Amino acid sequence: MAEYKVIYRNDQPDWQTTCPIWVETIQVSRNVETSECYLQLRLRNLSNMKIGRITATATIKSADGTCATKEIQLLDADIEAGSAATPKAIALDQSDIKELSMLIDSVDGKSDWAKAAPIKQPQRLMLSTKAMNERKTLVSESNISSAEFHGQCHEKHNGWWLCSCGAANVGRSSCHQCKAELQNMDNWEDEKWLEEAATKRTYDDAAAKLNRGTTKSILEAKDVFKQLGDYADSPSKTEACDQALAKIEQKQKRARKIAVPVAAIAAVVIVAIVAFTAVTNINAECSKKANDYANYLSGMSYTSSDGSITFGKNGNGSYKLTVSKNEVYEGIYSVYVSATGDATVNLDDKTGSITTTSDAKTKTEKITAITIDGVTYSRTSR
Ligand SMILES: [Zn+2]
Repeated sequence: MAEYKVIYRNDQPDWQTTCPIWVETIQVSRNVETSECYLQLRLRNLSNMKIGRITATATIKSADGTCATKEIQLLDADIEAGSAATPKAIALDQSDIKELSMLIDSVDGKSDWAKAAPIKQPQRLMLSTKAMNERKTLVSESNISSAEFHGQCHEKHNGWWLCSCGAANVGRSSCHQCKAELQNMDNWEDEKWLEEAATKRTYDDAAAKLNRGTTKSILEAKDVFKQLGDYADSPSKTEACDQALAKIEQKQKRARKIAVPVAAIAAVVIVAIVAFTAVTNINAECSKKANDYANYLSGMSYTSSDGSITFGKNGNGSYKLTVSKNEVYEGIYSVYVSATGDATVNLDDKTGSITTTSDAKTKTEKITAITIDGVTYSRTSR
């Protein structure tokens, strides 16, 4: 296979401003053995139309100072809008080439564009942190692909525009390189517009949180509305948060009130059943452990908050009952607890834990019965 050496390359050739074709790369390679030279081009279609026919002129400067031109015709270039293409390498007559420049003569029969000049880089964009963050958010929400998009100003010219990413575009509504929309460019570089958009985004997020309707989301929303001060209807939204929170509180209160009578009825039923079963069981001979507990239970009541009574699950699936720090009873227990006062007492028979819905610190719960290894002992039956 023939070996080639690149003897000339230009990655930023000048652009004939407003021409729909930009020669992105010019490269000349020489066959090491035969010294034949070939011109390779990469052409970019900067427009919004597919391009078929291109004619161009290459100006070739040789090492000895002589200058020559070569007409190039690409009749079926078929370059899609915004795309790049690399036509077949073109054989050159010269072999000692120092420099090569390209001029596009016509594109699909048209040829009226400005003279060649370098594509200049966009200017740095100066924005507040808030505005820049909003711009970055807008970019991340769009399908813009170039990381280069951030922080540079676009430019609008007659017949073409320079994108924030540095790419030139001819007659296009979106950038061929980064896909940014031209119609957004002005706003996305306007500090005031961006800051207002950021504030609106914050407001909208808070409104969504208020609508979510959980205590947590409403509290978060309220914080934001307070911070927003007089923005839009933030003051009335703050009030709406308070109202929503009050509604939740009312609902919870109502739920608690309903729970109390239910629990009280349950307790009465349980006590009645226990009293009945206890009568049949109380005379039965039982283990010392059970007797001890029955004695302990008799006529006693315990406060749940002082740690004197706890129920815990043993590893083997049975329950452990600790009635004081020094006395531990083990076996299969079921414990009945009655509620007194304005409270609901719940016994979780899986974990053995007792919870109350009201002020557990001052409430007294009375243990009315306990079943140990199938034998039920009831306070009321003693
Ligand atoms: Zn762009």
